[in-house]
Amino acid sequence: WLTKGLPHIWLPYTQMLTSPPPLPVVATQGSRIKLADGRELVDGVASWWTACHGYNHPHIAGAVTRQLRDMPHVMFGGLAHAPALTLARRLVELLPKPLDRVFFCDSGSVAVEVAMKMAVQFWLNQGAGGRTKFLSFKGGYHGDTFATMAVCDPEEGMHSLFSNVLTKQVIADLPVDEASEWAFDAALDAHAGALAAILVEPLAQGAGGMIFHDPAVLRKLRRAADRHGILLIFDEVFTGFGRTGTMFACEAAGVVPDIIALSKALTGGTMGLAATVATSTVFEAFSSTDPMRALMHGPTFMANPLACAAANASLDLFASEPRLRQVAAIAAALARDLEPCRDFAGVRDVRVQGAIGVVELDQINDMNELKRRFVESGVWVRPFRNIVYLTPAFTIAEAELKRLTDAVVAVLGAWSK
Ligand code: PMP
Repeated sequence: WLTKGLPHIWLPYTQMLTSPPPLPVVATQGSRIKLADGRELVDGVASWWTACHGYNHPHIAGAVTRQLRDMPHVMFGGLAHAPALTLARRLVELLPKPLDRVFFCDSGSVAVEVAMKMAVQFWLNQGAGGRTKFLSFKGGYHGDTFATMAVCDPEEGMHSLFSNVLTKQVIADLPVDEASEWAFDAALDAHAGALAAILVEPLAQGAGGMIFHDPAVLRKLRRAADRHGILLIFDEVFTGFGRTGTMFACEAAGVVPDIIALSKALTGGTMGLAATVATSTVFEAFSSTDPMRALMHGPTFMANPLACAAANASLDLFASEPRLRQVAAIAAALARDLEPCRDFAGVRDVRVQGAIGVVELDQINDMNELKRRFVESGVWVRPFRNIVYLTPAFTIAEAELKRLTDAVVAVLGAWSK
């Protein structure tokens, strides 16, 4: 199937003549990826940070199988069903108040795009139609739809190719941790009337560079947003559901955004589902008899019952199993066992936030070769730019995690020579 199908498949980002072909995978289990040739790789990535309970958790598989028999899908326009409404209620119970209205869609990019639409239309519905711009940050990544690309770090290689097609939507792109009050005030003062919202990945910026910042920054952003009467959007597509150590990163800062975007680990990494959750104040701006004031969004597979059943089962596991304690244990192991990398030539930084361990290098010259060496060591580690990182499943066994950190230390140790 690989050789017959490969000439017809369009791969993500890697359709370059220099990229090696993808590895044929036949099964996944726990923190293992099984390849067609019988090799097993220990997974250090959790499939782009989604599979927080490991692969094939029987509780999620059971819930999805039952849902498949009863009602795999039904349109969400004019019909409601228990998987979605139960999930909405449970998400609101978990999130800080007053976040309490859940809009479902299918991917992280669209969840952020919906948040952006909500922010723009929130102002439009109140007669402030000129507020269409966003303040987003250096190192930020928010997705790959047109609008979300326009608020990513402008230096995100591929993204810069397209982001200028749109009217530039970013007002300022400061590094989050250097976002001094004066810099914000300067940007905000100059543009406050044009800004719909401040958009940020709280605590940990992911795909833009695995950069962490102090929670105090988020409190500063909240104050700045309030001072200027601007909405605050948290993109917790990466950080949501325990990855940074608390169920949601906003909790660590004690800051509540006006809108939050969730996806990735929402279904425990089993299928595409996303949620954009807004406060009642935001929602009320859309409650009207005027159809033009309704949120202009409604995807076909909105609130897909299979995906909602998976998400409900994932939340069961967060309640019944000690996930956040596992994250804390992973954080301690990552900090301890990645530490030797600090001494290698060309290593700029080693940092850990929750179940995210990062080794930042000055540069990675031969990315394909580095990836090959990780596979050769029996681990699935996917460096990007100048970053080698581990974001394992929270259920990973101690010995498997040690295999990952040992591989990173061994591969980078040899690499730096
Ligand atoms: N926001 C953040 C913070 C992300 O990490 C990602 C995915 N890497 C997205 C948005 C986009 O999500 P998706 O790939 O599901 O569209």
